[in-house]
Amino acid sequence: MMTTYTPMIQQYLQVKADYQDAFLFFRLGDFYEMFFEDAIKASQELEITLTSREGGGAERIPMCGVPHHSAPNYIEQLVERGYKVAICEQTEDPKQAKGVVRREVVQLITPGTMMEGKNLSDKENNYIATITAFDHEMFGFAYSDLSTGESKATLLAGIEACLNELSLSGAKEVIIASDFNEHLKKRLQERDTLTLSYENTTEEAAAHETLLQEIEEQKLRSTASRLFHYLYRTQKRSLDHLQPISAYEIDQFMKIDYFSKRNLELTETIRSKGKKGSLLWLLDETKTAMGGRLLKQWIDRPLLNKQEINYRQSLVETMISQYFERMELREKLKEVYDLERLAGRVAFGNVNARDLVQLKRSLQQVPSIKELVVSFLSEEAQEVAEALDPCEEVADLLEQAIVENPPLSIKEGNIILDGYDEELDRYRDASRNGKTWIAQLEKQEREKTGIKSLKIGYNRVFGYYIEVTRANVHLLQEGQYERKQTLANAERYITPELKEKESLILQAEEKIVGLEYDLFTNIRETVKEYIPRLQNLAKKVSELDVLQCFATVSEERQYVKPIFSNERVLSIKNGRHPVVEKVLNSQSYVPNDCDMHGEREVLLITGPNMSGKSTYMRQVALTSIMAQIGCFVPAESAMLPLFDQVFTRIGAADDLISGQSTFMVEMLEAKNALLHATKNSLILFDEIGRGTSTYDGMALAQAIIEHIHHIVGAKTLFSTHYHELTVLETELSALKNIHVSAMEHNGKVVFLHKIKEGAADKSYGIHVAQLAELPKALIDRAQALLEEFEQKDPIQVGEIIKQPQVLANKEPKEDKVNESQLSFFEAEEKTKPAQNLSLKEKQLIIKIKSLDILDITPMQALNTLYELHKKI
Ligand code: ADP
Repeated sequence: MMTTYTPMIQQYLQVKADYQDAFLFFRLGDFYEMFFEDAIKASQELEITLTSREGGGAERIPMCGVPHHSAPNYIEQLVERGYKVAICEQTEDPKQAKGVVRREVVQLITPGTMMEGKNLSDKENNYIATITAFDHEMFGFAYSDLSTGESKATLLAGIEACLNELSLSGAKEVIIASDFNEHLKKRLQERDTLTLSYENTTEEAAAHETLLQEIEEQKLRSTASRLFHYLYRTQKRSLDHLQPISAYEIDQFMKIDYFSKRNLELTETIRSKGKKGSLLWLLDETKTAMGGRLLKQWIDRPLLNKQEINYRQSLVETMISQYFERMELREKLKEVYDLERLAGRVAFGNVNARDLVQLKRSLQQVPSIKELVVSFLSEEAQEVAEALDPCEEVADLLEQAIVENPPLSIKEGNIILDGYDEELDRYRDASRNGKTWIAQLEKQEREKTGIKSLKIGYNRVFGYYIEVTRANVHLLQEGQYERKQTLANAERYITPELKEKESLILQAEEKIVGLEYDLFTNIRETVKEYIPRLQNLAKKVSELDVLQCFATVSEERQYVKPIFSNERVLSIKNGRHPVVEKVLNSQSYVPNDCDMHGEREVLLITGPNMSGKSTYMRQVALTSIMAQIGCFVPAESAMLPLFDQVFTRIGAADDLISGQSTFMVEMLEAKNALLHATKNSLILFDEIGRGTSTYDGMALAQAIIEHIHHIVGAKTLFSTHYHELTVLETELSALKNIHVSAMEHNGKVVFLHKIKEGAADKSYGIHVAQLAELPKALIDRAQALLEEFEQKDPIQVGEIIKQPQVLANKEPKEDKVNESQLSFFEAEEKTKPAQNLSLKEKQLIIKIKSLDILDITPMQALNTLYELHKKI
């Protein structure tokens, strides 16, 4: 039997059918109610009570609700968890409705379209992205920040590049077509912080014309159209603050893939996933929220164009040299609110009077900011000053119209200043006069009746009344006062005269509230016309803010202006790792040089664990990135090439996203670097090959180094604990060994963190274990074992791995090979002196030793045995 639901539930189901993937907040009086599945799920997510109601069917319908005034908080919670919320309002006056009140969804709030709330961090953009697949190799990618109105689009070759851009954008929501390739869709679904949304229309709508004006390419236009269709469809309102979408190409910027960005901790640290400890954290001396967001964007996309970099550098330099002006500028910038998001709220229609006061105060800073910029003595500064548009008309309008401390609500008056609008002033006079009249009446009544305690009061139910204490009631002249209310020891009266004035006052007040609201919305509409100018101003102010931030950090931390080399020379004198230096405090940080050019294109770094190898490598990469965003760098002097890309493979424990082994991830990242790096790239490989057996790992490491050296030609820093690899210096003309020095002092290792030429000569593993306070007995045992091993003649591992290599044709120098550290091989060879083994025997032993017996299936064991047998 078909269930016949009540008309209201039928209406609910009809609306819900269009919003299957969202929680439907269905407005009923003062509440938003949810029904059926939504109610069950929401009651769990939001920890609110699940109830039920009759709905016409046999069973009661699950229901839960939230009061409308506290809805934003609940919506935020749901959206933060990746859900969407459809807001369904009553769209006709219930008093006029015939039958069920008409209801419509007025907005769909999604993770990518949040406009306000705690989720929206001031210093971060909230992007929503879209991907359009044109064919297997060509993808359109576009993204937009609805709160600031900024949008960008690009075409990308291959899904990897596309996923990389998506990761870089940090978008929380991505829009695709419903027939998007299943395999690719799965890859998007794997990302648990990403919400998937669907939009099939890619045709250009007339409404999008201005948004698309800067783009000609057809594929970009249709990708952008998909994005705008979705935004308009979900937001259902004016989005006048959306700026024309601009096209970009990833080749315009230094490429740093997502993993490398994480490894280098550019905007967040690997461990805490927070900003603290990242380069962004170190550099962030911005004073405005917009500046904070722009700084992050700049770090995400270092420049390749020397002119653009020089432009930023020269402003930074000027601002460093004019300390007092910069300090003053910082003070002024502090007073500038988030113009970008304010403009967004103006367009969106959710701006209140307090926002407009903020806007006014911000704009009022602009003339003095402009003056300060003019006082910076450089041509570039004059250009910047020229471009700062104070939008005086808006500032003046708001100054004349809006009170200094308006209430939050825009519907209760007290927003508009006296003198702004004649009609309003008249009503206000009426209301004020009425009140004066009432005050006078109180005085007259007291005199007339002789009751000193007589007073005139007001409440919502009875309006104005005269209150007389019980003891004095007999003093009132009979017939003149009509009793309205009796209290414990007083009586309240009204008189016709009082009521007449009351209605005048109340009418005026009602008019005032209505008129103030109208005036406010008019002002808002006027401000709306200035949105493009405000956005332009916002852009200039945020650039200025980031540049003063660079100047401030550079001056405080004594960074220098890097020089760019046309001959691919990299020469850093006394360079430092900016973040480690800050954390350690400058005194204890040991600065190091780095020279990479000519015969030093590949540097092979050896040295004990914890000595500072990876810090050194990162410091070179960070220095280059800082230079290419226009900042000064932590060094005494620096000459740098312009790097087109930075690749890193730096061990990270938590990159097992797709169930691949760490080693597999390591190899994939290595492949990525080897495939895409050019001779203008920088590669950092930290301990590559460590994740497999020694023999394997060492062989791979050597092959990788050779490949980079012979074929790729990128500048490379390669750290390794395979000391055996240091023989490569004799083979490869552009490879040099360097090491981090350490010293033994009273049986303990002292790290000097100083980079020196040549290979390291000893592993300090046991000392590090000692530092880590492993049990003393264990340390002693390890020490004893080490001594025992050292007495044996170590295998010449360098030879083993060299022989299968075609490229390695020279014999290694004897002494270098014998420097091999305590290695896997030495430990294993107790029964038979190493030098008596043939190469084949050594290989077999290594193979057997590398088997993980506990983790092998009988079938694998049999196969391995068969393989080994074949080799004998
Ligand atoms: P490795 O890669 O050799 O294992 P790390 O680069 O991780 O070593 O450095 C280990 C620690 O040594 C760092 O956390 C840092 O505190 C310290 N360190 C590294 N380089 C320096 C330096 N140049 N000056 C002072 N301390 C350093």
